[in-house]
This record gives sequence, structure tokens and C-alpha cells, in this order.
Amino acid sequence: SEAHDQAGEESALETKPTDEDAPKKSFSDLGVIDSLSEACANMGYKLPTPIQAESIPLALQGRDIIGLAETGSGKTAAFAIPILQALMEKPQPFFGLVLAPTRELAYQISQQFEALGSLINVRCAVLVGGMDMVPQAIALGKRPHIVVASPGRVLDHLENTKGFSLRNLKYLVMDEADRLLDLDFGPVLDKILKVLPREGRHTYLFSATMSSKVESLQRASLHNPVRVSISSSA
Ligand code: ADP
Ligand code: MG
Repeated sequence: SEAHDQAGEESALETKPTDEDAPKKSFSDLGVIDSLSEACANMGYKLPTPIQAESIPLALQGRDIIGLAETGSGKTAAFAIPILQALMEKPQPFFGLVLAPTRELAYQISQQFEALGSLINVRCAVLVGGMDMVPQAIALGKRPHIVVASPGRVLDHLENTKGFSLRNLKYLVMDEADRLLDLDFGPVLDKILKVLPREGRHTYLFSATMSSKVESLQRASLHNPVRVSISSSA
């Protein structure tokens, strides 16, 4: 199949449905390096889930991804693994920003990054509302590799925390995009997108559902994305 890559027009390709009878692929088969495959095994991940099996190889090829799959299908590792693999190749601070709709989710995502990235001592900072700004600013001063944040709070830090910038950001993830938009984070997301680099940045949008709001967020932020959709009825 062919991607249309005209200026101003983004295209989304549907991937073919997986063959149910095909032998299951391991993380290594997807192109995941040994140290990360081992980290998966240590976490009890024997085989990739369908969304991981479909999206990880495309992400490792450098594609922007729209990942659609139901809650509990393993979407966190689907975006964390390719980001960590790229980080291992060229470790640098403020490598990835993950936007999540709730505090609980932000902490869960950070924990998965730390567990999967334990071998390289990946540093994460969590920026969520309802907590003191100062300890978060101190955590940013330690130059974390990955920032996991609610949109409002990361924008607050971008505007008010001296020395904090995401101008070298390599990966942006919008997790649970449908909920981010239901919670009216749209205008804040637009402001964040304006200050992030576009050049050399990879973007992943993960969601349980696709809506017209999610579609327009996707068009505003992803470059020639591949759409990976795993139906829950399979
Ligand atoms: P989602 O974001 O799609 O709701 P999560 O990423 O939170 O799902 O994953 C749901 C649960 O499945 C988590 O407890 C996670 O640790 C576990 N998990 C993720 N990938 C695998 C895997 N390949 N094998 C087994 N368990 C997994
Ligand atoms: Mg999730």
C-alpha cells in the first residue's frame, strides 16, 4: 500500500488484520533489542499483545502511530518500548513527553517506563495537577529522559519553570486521546503543540476510541501516520 505524503494532507493507513493462525511473534521478532525483550520477560510479558505486535515494528521504522485498542490491551508498552529503544541508542534528557488525562494514569505510565528501562536507569518525572509545583520543578532540574504529564501541568511548567524546555523533544505521546479531549484539554494541547519541535519529532496517539475530535487532533499533530486498529471483538 502507498502513503500519500502531500504537503498539508496527512494520511492514515489501515494495517491488514492479523492472521489468527499465524505463529505468535516474540518481542525479538518485532525488532526489540535483547535488553528490552529481557525487561519484558522480567515483567511477565511472555508475548506481545496484538496492539504491541502491530505497532512496535512500525514505530521502530520511525513511523508516527495512531493506536486504537481497548483498555487493558497493553498500549503503554506499545509506545514505551520503541521510545526506550531509541533512547538507548542516544541517551539524552527530555527525550519523550507522554500526555495522560489523569494523575493515576500518569504514575502508572511512569512506572512502566521505569520498569522497562531499568537496565539503562531511565529517569522519569511526573507532572500532574493538585500537587506542589516546586518538587516537580526540582525533578525537572535533574533532566529526566521522560516526562509524563497532564496537559495543564506541563504547560504550567513550560511557562513558569526556569530552564525547562522541550525544544529537543524526540517523542510525543498523547495517551487516551479520547479522554484527553472529553476532559476539554483540546485548547491546552494546542498550546503545547505550538511550543514543541515538529522537525525530527515522532508522535504517537493512543486511544480506546476514535472520534471526530480525535481525528482533528491527529491531523494537527501527526505526520503521515499509520493507523493500527485492534478490534476488541476478535
Ligand atoms: P492499556 O493502556 O491498553 O489500557 P496497559 O498498558 O495499561 O493497557 O496494560 C494493561 C496490563 O497488561 C498491564 O498490567 C500491563 O502490565 C499488562 N501487559 C502489557 N503488555 C503485556 C504483555 N505483552 N503480556 C502480558 N501482560 C502485559
Ligand atoms: Mg493506557
